[in-house]
Amino acid sequence: MRKLILVKCASEIFLKGLNRNKFEKKLKDNIKKVLEGMEYEFITDSGRWFLYSENLEEVLDRVKIVFGVAEVCIVTEVEPNIDAIKTQAVEEIKNSEFNTFKVETNRANKQFSEMNSLEVSRSVGAHILKNVEGLKVDVHKPQCIVNVEIREKAYVYSKRIKAVGGLPYGMNGSTMLMLSGGIDSPVAGYMMARRGVEVSCVYYHSHPYTSERAKEKVKDLARILKGYTGSIKLYVVPFTDIQMQIIEKCREDELTIIMRRFMMRIACSLASKYGIQSVSTGESIGQVASQTMEGLVVSDDVSDRPVFRPLVAMDKVDIMDVSRQIGTYETSILPYEDCCTIFVPKHPKTKPILEQMRKAEGVLEIDNLVEEAINNMEIYDL
Ligand code: ATP
Ligand code: MG
Repeated sequence: MRKLILVKCASEIFLKGLNRNKFEKKLKDNIKKVLEGMEYEFITDSGRWFLYSENLEEVLDRVKIVFGVAEVCIVTEVEPNIDAIKTQAVEEIKNSEFNTFKVETNRANKQFSEMNSLEVSRSVGAHILKNVEGLKVDVHKPQCIVNVEIREKAYVYSKRIKAVGGLPYGMNGSTMLMLSGGIDSPVAGYMMARRGVEVSCVYYHSHPYTSERAKEKVKDLARILKGYTGSIKLYVVPFTDIQMQIIEKCREDELTIIMRRFMMRIACSLASKYGIQSVSTGESIGQVASQTMEGLVVSDDVSDRPVFRPLVAMDKVDIMDVSRQIGTYETSILPYEDCCTIFVPKHPKTKPILEQMRKAEGVLEIDNLVEEAINNMEIYDL
């Protein structure tokens, strides 16, 4: 008799039809990747995945943040006979504080005795009632569900731990995330990654107006994201020349929007260079002057690929909650300046008109500026 972890995949993976095998294989590979360096055994029993290790807690902590894992349960493996199952079911619940329970059985091993699943549940339930005082069966709203899985072996458990969910990382294409040092963009990156999209990051650095520490902070944020993705690339693109040119040659109230068009161009250009299919940002509709519908439309005008804004409909407080939950908040709030905050116009345009913006930036050598910035970028493989 030993304890194992039962790994339950997100139910969406089961909807993938013919692609299901690919999703499962990717998920399995990603689980193995987070467990690298540990001693463990990966056990498959009639389609269910179990992990065994001397260090079960550590395995559990690592596996529950793998995208595509919906739940992890600590189970006890017993011989597939009804007496062994009954004995373990009593162990499972006898010291708990629950008053009501029910037993749920899932039987893949049809050779197992003459009982069907319902009969197993009834028989185990009756045994619990006889052996543990003060418990009642409640089939509708039980405080505790004792689960019995009958495969080659039998498994009994009652503790379920919610895992991160989502879809296996790397199964849903790729995106170039504009990663600033703020609260929003790391959350946006996490949300894209959680849907299985491979994330690379670009940061626009305005040295010397933004400090080395601001850059380090962005690297730290990318490293936190890496905890979920396994690896991550960060492109640090020098942005000072572009900003200086805009300040020199364009109207003050148009600085931000023109700057954002440059950010978008560079992100697309990098995406194209590295075969990345889309761009993502941490923008949310109406959050600041540049994030009006008109502002977003004018930015997207220079994009040659889909632009995803997973936070578009989220409130700031909710974004902050996610950032605390995923562990980026404490780093995001460190007080280092961002390139957007150093040259902020007093009255930025909130309803830019596309034709006007195209014309306004026509005084700049756009292609040269973009090319120059990319030629001078630094690449970090974190
Ligand atoms: P964040 O909290 O992500 O910084 P924000 O609320 O401060 O967002 P803005 O500064 O307007 O909003 O930036 C909007 C989005 O533009 C960011 O979410 C990010 O995707 C991108 N962005 C802004 N500044 C930079 C930068 N220096 N480098 C890379 N991307 C940036
Ligand atoms: Mg910002």
